[in-house]
Amino acid sequence: MKTAILGGGLSGLTLARLLHEKGNDVIVLEAEQHYGGLCRSKTDREFTFDTGGSHIIFSRDAEVLAFMRRMIADNEQRNNRTTKIFYKHLFVKYPFENGLSDLPPEDRFACINGFVKTLIAVEKGVIPAPANFREWIYYTFGDGIAECYMVPYNEKIWKYPTERMSLHWVDGRIPRPPVEDIIKSAIGINTEGYTHQSVFSYPLNGGIEALVHAIAAPIKNHIRTGFRIVSIERSGTQWKISNGDEVIEAERCICTMPLQHLLPCLEHVPREVKDAADALKYNSLVCINIGIEGAVLDFSWVYVPDPAVGKANRISFPSHYSNKVAPPGCSAILAEITHQPGDEVALMTDDELIHEVMDMLGKMQILTYDKVVFSSVERQPFAYVVYDLEYQKNIALVKEYCTGAGIPLVGRFAQFEYLNMDGCIRSVMDFVTSNP
Ligand SMILES: Cc1cc2nc3c(=O)[nH]c(=O)nc-3n(C[C@H](O)[C@H](O)[C@H](O)COP(=O)(O)OP(=O)(O)OC[C@H]3O[C@@H](n4cnc5c(N)ncnc54)[C@H](O)[C@@H]3O)c2cc1C
Repeated sequence: MKTAILGGGLSGLTLARLLHEKGNDVIVLEAEQHYGGLCRSKTDREFTFDTGGSHIIFSRDAEVLAFMRRMIADNEQRNNRTTKIFYKHLFVKYPFENGLSDLPPEDRFACINGFVKTLIAVEKGVIPAPANFREWIYYTFGDGIAECYMVPYNEKIWKYPTERMSLHWVDGRIPRPPVEDIIKSAIGINTEGYTHQSVFSYPLNGGIEALVHAIAAPIKNHIRTGFRIVSIERSGTQWKISNGDEVIEAERCICTMPLQHLLPCLEHVPREVKDAADALKYNSLVCINIGIEGAVLDFSWVYVPDPAVGKANRISFPSHYSNKVAPPGCSAILAEITHQPGDEVALMTDDELIHEVMDMLGKMQILTYDKVVFSSVERQPFAYVVYDLEYQKNIALVKEYCTGAGIPLVGRFAQFEYLNMDGCIRSVMDFVTSNP
């Protein structure tokens, strides 16, 4: 049976590899000239930057983590996470609730007071269960942590009001910290959060794209790049997939590209399904890459919740992930700005974005203009799925339609779920097990 895989990002390539290992005849159809999707990297003047935002390899899923690490086994650097939150000109330990002793005393008081009062109120049952993400933040962390960090940071990254976001996704992703940890953290006894990420891997050479290259190695001859799918038709037992010039035929067709690109390729999609897909929310990303002479702060990355400091929500230091992503004597900085399609950030030129980030790094005392030896900008239309209050209703309609049409959905923007690389690979592994 010939299987066509729509989209050649991490999900499409992993799917092709695993199906190929099971004896399937596969073809991956990728719109861009290079495969890899959000997991691509570019090297220029000896600086290597990930083009879909700064990536690291970590997972709670032992099987998936072992798979990813096996893929880069001869090209792996292991790192300890040192992550901070830039708050009132201080670098506060991450996660915020584990860094309370780094805060000014009045903020530390507000955070611990809010946490304990909320915990008592929740246990007495005097606070109603939360109905949206904003209420969940207050219900879980109290007003101090909510207002110092959780609400401003989340509104900055999602570019969406937290009271209009759903909370179905937070369980397991953002845990409620034990009260003991909050007290320890406030009085300065070391505690760690998100421990599954405290040691992470990164390819020594080639950026995160080295991972997708390793995964794609056995199926390289089965990838068609520069094939932007514009129509998909079912004819008897065959799918006919076209880029407008050429038709590829296959018995099975699996989608890993964004739903927003899939639905316009299909005929006779009902109005309510189109409307539901149009109503799904996501945000876009610009990455501003800066190469500098000399060293940078010894952090993995820094979250910046305060919009007054600058537009970037996160600043990463990839030359601490791998010694080979910057030339000798130089360091790399990658700033991420999420935005809404067509908004003010989308309209900024590359030079304006570079200046915005340079000013921001200056305010944070991370660097001065004279140190800069390289800069570039990358843009990604699809970065994060945003779970609004209508999400579950809309996605159910779209998924039901695609399943009925016989097109399985696998991957971040095909399933339209907040899946990291490990989540995508897990979806692929589960799919291949039940659909060999
Ligand atoms: C800022 C940021 C940071 C991240 N950091 C991490 C991290 O540290 N660790 C981690 O595990 N994960 C991270 N992720 C998540 C990770 O990038 C994704 O989970 C993963 O790359 C998704 O892969 P995918 O193949 O499902 O989707 P994509 O990479 O989006 O691939 C979809 C592919 O479909 C192609 N396509 C689209 N339209 C068409 C068409 N009409 N015809 C043919 N092809 C088409 C696209 O070109 C693309 O190649 C991060 C994501 C972002 C945005």
